Amino acid sequence: MTNELARALTDAVRFLHDHDDFLVVAHTNPDGDATASVLAMACILERLGKRYTLANEGETPRRYAFLPRADRIVNHGRHPLGRTYTAAIALDCADLERIGDVRNVLAPNAAVLNIDHHVTNTRYGSVNLVVPQDAATAQVVYRLAQAAGVALDAELATCLYAGILSDTGGFRYANTTAEALRVAGELVAAGVRPDVVAERILELLTEPQLRLLQRVLPSLERYGDGRIACLTVTLEDVAAAQATRGDLEGLVAYARNLEGVAVGVLFREDAPDAVKVSLRAREPVDVARIAQEFGGGGHVRAAGCTLRVPLDEAKRRVIARLERETEGLSLVP
Ligand code: AMP
Ligand code: MN
Ligand code: MN
Repeated sequence: MTNELARALTDAVRFLHDHDDFLVVAHTNPDGDATASVLAMACILERLGKRYTLANEGETPRRYAFLPRADRIVNHGRHPLGRTYTAAIALDCADLERIGDVRNVLAPNAAVLNIDHHVTNTRYGSVNLVVPQDAATAQVVYRLAQAAGVALDAELATCLYAGILSDTGGFRYANTTAEALRVAGELVAAGVRPDVVAERILELLTEPQLRLLQRVLPSLERYGDGRIACLTVTLEDVAAAQATRGDLEGLVAYARNLEGVAVGVLFREDAPDAVKVSLRAREPVDVARIAQEFGGGGHVRAAGCTLRVPLDEAKRRVIARLERETEGLSLVP
């Protein structure tokens, strides 16, 4: 462990001890790592005898509802929190804008503990515990639990494991390091049921998810000599499939996994003038940098951004940029 990381951990533990009442929040439209990290943090705060509120902008996807205390996460968009907080823990957020409207309940001088693993993290916290080499924010939370002397029980271990499992795509992506696997092994030893967690998070399909897949696969387009594959989800598709946000998770993999593709893209129409773009790359393409150019961020091979323009315009801009990036490119086999 570097000195810098050791210092950040000490500062983060002090942050937990220095406050009594915390707002715990992750990014808008939370994914598995975001949800699991919030719930792991709830376990830790409980064990330290602290009070807390769990809140996100956006619904917790149903596939994570089995995690302990998932029902305590307030969807601030639907049920606004009626008070402000002077201490907050932001999880899995590369920048503070990622917490969305929950920002409105932070007191002007609120202390923020920033716990994250994105390379593009802007270090917006009063304390920054940012570990880009960690596979998931949940893995960083594991470090914090260890540093705070909170022993692993089955509930905490299950949350931490769920976050790592979900951000490594079931221990398949390039972020599946020896350390991530070692931590996962320790979590299983602490009582995690890997079959149960994988069944819920990776295997389970909802019917809307299948209906959406049926509608979205025909939208496949290839650009840049086939190196770029795009899928498009319109507002109409989501409505017709009776799908929710959680049903869209993983769709982009169909684009990126196609043979010969360097970048897979999912364009999701969120409003007539807002498009969420998910980018997934094969080595050596760096999509974190490209997402950042469009005001987003993420990881080298998995990143995202939102463009406040109509769907056609968003597609034109992003595809043009990706064509420039992948011109003459040969993929690392
Ligand atoms: P997604 O395509 O939404 O699954 O996101 C892929 C990765 O990029 C995740 O680690 C996200 O946290 C990150 N990401 C997505 N959108 C943004 C954004 N607007 N700003 C910063 N990071 C993002
Ligand atoms: Mn995330
Ligand atoms: Mn993450």
